[in-house]
Amino acid sequence: MSETEVFEGGCLCGEVRYRITGPVSQAAHCHCNMCRRASGAPVVTWVSVKMADVSWSKGAPAVYPSSEGCERAFCAECGSQLTFHTDRYPDDIDITVGSLDRPEFFEPASHVWTSSALPWICLDEHLPMHEESTPGFE
Ligand SMILES: [Zn+2]
Ligand SMILES: [Zn+2]
Repeated sequence: MSETEVFEGGCLCGEVRYRITGPVSQAAHCHCNMCRRASGAPVVTWVSVKMADVSWSKGAPAVYPSSEGCERAFCAECGSQLTFHTDRYPDDIDITVGSLDRPEFFEPASHVWTSSALPWICLDEHLPMHEESTPGFE
């Protein structure tokens, strides 16, 4: 990902839009229970960016404190999950790859929280597997 490239994304209904103007990490599939509940999907795929490089270009998300020191932002209108932030990495914010306009550009490079993975999920088994979080991905 080039550092000068700008990536944009937003929710299902289009009321909330964001813009990323800095480097984007490699994507990771998260298998944790909280991502699963929040999204209703078996796995949520994330990229991590610097907080300072993300701005809301349209509307503003609602925020849910999903656990101690953690916040999940989503569209209050349509419910799309957009970001995850934890006080453990205050300068970073995770963005759902599925909300990006060009998700095909963000090929996942790892799995996190495989200790919570559903037994019937079979995704990219050649990628590194982490039983819990790795820095930058809760
Ligand atoms: Zn929406
Ligand atoms: Zn997760």
